[in-house]
Amino acid sequence: MSERTLILVKPDGVRRGLVGDVIARIERKGLKLVALELRTLERDVAETHYEEHREKPFFGSLVEFITGGPLVAMVVEGPRAIEAFRGLAGATDPVAAGPGTVRGDHALEIQENIVHGSDSTYSAEREIKLFFPNLF
Ligand code: GDP
Ligand code: MG
Repeated sequence: MSERTLILVKPDGVRRGLVGDVIARIERKGLKLVALELRTLERDVAETHYEEHREKPFFGSLVEFITGGPLVAMVVEGPRAIEAFRGLAGATDPVAAGPGTVRGDHALEIQENIVHGSDSTYSAEREIKLFFPNLF
């Protein structure tokens, strides 16, 4: 059984030239790319994407950050793709993220943590529809 997940290389990752590194890890793991786009998010899309965090103190800063430059959005497919990519990404806090993970290897700040990956089948479906409405 295959599933799909939405992955973002956030603006910090694009700015730092880490797109290739993230894609290499995804491909090395055996996950398959099914959609990919470079884009700069409009504020309303960013707010919808992060709507679960709307009440958090960091929400405004998070939206500024995620709209602050081009990002790479991808849909990736494979067995337990959601959990598989969350494992590759590492913990939200890059200092706590293990070595060998994207965040563990490349980041120090909780907000600028390089990548996003959907956290459940429900959020994957919602996020894929938001970023790639024409994908079926
Ligand atoms: P994720 O699912 O691992 O990306 O983490 P969350 O869903 O908890 O948070 C979403 C994103 O908000 C994270 O990836 C960070 O970019 C950012 N974030 C999370 N916690 C904090 C925080 O305490 N402060 C700030 N400034 N940003 C945060
Ligand atoms: Mg999350």
